[in-house]
Amino acid sequence: MSLDGTYDHGNIFAKILRGEAPSARVFEDDHVLSFMDVFPQARGHTLVIPKHSVARNLLDEEPQVLAGVILGVQRVTRAVRAALNPDGIVVTQFNGATAGQTVYHLHFHIIPRWDGVALGRHGAGGMADPAELTALAQQIAAKIS
Ligand code: 5GP
Repeated sequence: MSLDGTYDHGNIFAKILRGEAPSARVFEDDHVLSFMDVFPQARGHTLVIPKHSVARNLLDEEPQVLAGVILGVQRVTRAVRAALNPDGIVVTQFNGATAGQTVYHLHFHIIPRWDGVALGRHGAGGMADPAELTALAQQIAAKIS
């Protein structure tokens, strides 16, 4: 998938937004939905996506939508820190398959890092235990402020 293209309403994040696919939900407001990444690169790997958007990537997004999205990213990142006490946190976002993008609904990754713990490979990890993801989502949700 290139940088250009048509938004596919059948993508997995659109299904999660519509409640047609399950997810371990962390946070929701008027602008964003946040849930756990099911193939985490680290414990606590969390995603934030715009709720009202047909942007496949950052380049497609309406500027006025981005403000609410990035504020949601900061809010969830702070909650991840408060819940899991990492040594660092990667916030990242991929545009186009060549860059590593695999799901074509704009999203931001929040990936906690701990000293001495290697980062899992993007898109190459195993599926997490759903019960563990639910527990992490609850821990992070409890720290949203
Ligand atoms: P991208 O590769 O597009 O930057 O990120 C997509 C992310 O979505 C990946 O980190 C991948 O692990 C995650 N992902 C793929 N399918 C699902 C799913 O069905 N549920 C959840 N929660 N995450 C998914």
